[in-house]
Amino acid sequence: MKLRFLGAAGEVTGSCMLVEADGLRFLVDCGMFQGGRDAAARNRRAYARELGPIDFVLLTHAHIDHCGLLPRFAFPRHGTGSPPIYCTRPTADLVPVMLADSAFVQSRTAARGRRRADSTASSLRSKDSRFGTAVRADLTTSSLRSKDSRFGTAVRARATEAPLYTAEEVRRLATRLHGVPYGVEFRPHPQAAVRLHNAGHIVGAASAEVRLAEGGRKRTLLFSGDLGEDSALLVRDRDPAPAADVIIVESTYGDRNHRSLADTEDELVAVLNEALHERRGNVVVPAFALGRAQEFLVLLYRLARTGRIRVPLVFVDSPLARQSAEVTFAHLDAIDDEAAAFHAAERDRKLPFTLRYTESVEDSMFLNSIRSGAVIIAASGMCEAGRVRHHLRHNLPRSECAVLFTGFQAAGTLGRRIVEGAGSVWLFGETIPVRASVHTLGGLSAHAGQDSLMDWLRSAPRRPRSVFVGHGEPAAAHALAGRMARELKWSPVVAEAETAYEV
Ligand SMILES: [Zn+2]
Repeated sequence: MKLRFLGAAGEVTGSCMLVEADGLRFLVDCGMFQGGRDAAARNRRAYARELGPIDFVLLTHAHIDHCGLLPRFAFPRHGTGSPPIYCTRPTADLVPVMLADSAFVQSRTAARGRRRADSTASSLRSKDSRFGTAVRADLTTSSLRSKDSRFGTAVRARATEAPLYTAEEVRRLATRLHGVPYGVEFRPHPQAAVRLHNAGHIVGAASAEVRLAEGGRKRTLLFSGDLGEDSALLVRDRDPAPAADVIIVESTYGDRNHRSLADTEDELVAVLNEALHERRGNVVVPAFALGRAQEFLVLLYRLARTGRIRVPLVFVDSPLARQSAEVTFAHLDAIDDEAAAFHAAERDRKLPFTLRYTESVEDSMFLNSIRSGAVIIAASGMCEAGRVRHHLRHNLPRSECAVLFTGFQAAGTLGRRIVEGAGSVWLFGETIPVRASVHTLGGLSAHAGQDSLMDWLRSAPRRPRSVFVGHGEPAAAHALAGRMARELKWSPVVAEAETAYEV
């Protein structure tokens, strides 16, 4: 049996693993790379890659770094087919929403790239008519790149920003999704039996237990997916790890622990009170539309209900977050009691603050005119795209405001630069000074910290034959592997991209 990491090895995005056993071939996740200058090019390569025949795909959850490249299977492709995709029911509901948003973002980025290329081309035309003819004749002529690097950038931007897939392909892909309940064994293939377990990360998130037969040999593989903390407010606590021969574990926070929920609440109370009431500014909260935005609302609800904070206005400026909330709260059996209480209060109009979801761009722009008293939750969580960038532009330069990060900021993202204390950032073609206070809520991650990852590993009823550590930046992956070796006497391997491991 062979296991190969096609992404999320040495980094936290692009989750995709290929398993091969005696003619059977399947993927676990098929996610996008995010963050960094080369993410678009890497996604393009991954999307076009010939994978050979794939019998089925197991999808652990609906975050885009796990499902974002699935539309490659929307239509049968030479050699690959159009395999069925198995996931939990909430995930099957969420994936079309997430992918439709991704397709929309891609089409908008492409249109922006076209406009930029066209304006560069026309300015060049006016300067040099000979060049202009060439520009009109062939925008992708590589010789132009060597003549004018500015033009070359535009051409390259055009090539890398064309959408990978369309809304139509997403609709088609949705017909390939099969939702299965947690804990019930199913057979996607005569050689494979699968059971999904609650991973406690976002609604519908699963660890996948896969029993495989190869010749006379049997192996149970356990893919952790993204694991949540047990203190999470949004989803039910995760299941313990089942017995397995091979464990593949995530390590996003493999080198550190989160602050406790009580400390996190104290921290949030302090930030909100200072920024909203003492300094009379706004608080901008970059948040992943799926999971983090809803969990932050539940936390606000908990603190406002007990009188610890006074928040006049809360805006969720993300249509995707609203859609994600609808699907999340439609699966009441999967969510935490605290989240269910928030949902009931919202439905009955008994929230202790005014909550508004903004839909149109005009509504979103209106928020720019609010000078104080507002908590603005907007995507994307790592500030790489989306409406949050407008709110950062308007609020970062104001010392009375605060920016509050609530999730992991990957290397190379705008969010990471702000968290690491950049004095200014580049946004919409201008330098924006960072005068607002910047905070990271330590305890609100959807990912388990190191102790919690160890607890999950320890919960396995027997010692695995092998363990692979993936989905983490190198320092985090090695720190978790080191602790496993010391405390559990296991011999984990830190996964390397593209290496085929025999298991
Ligand atoms: Zn995730």
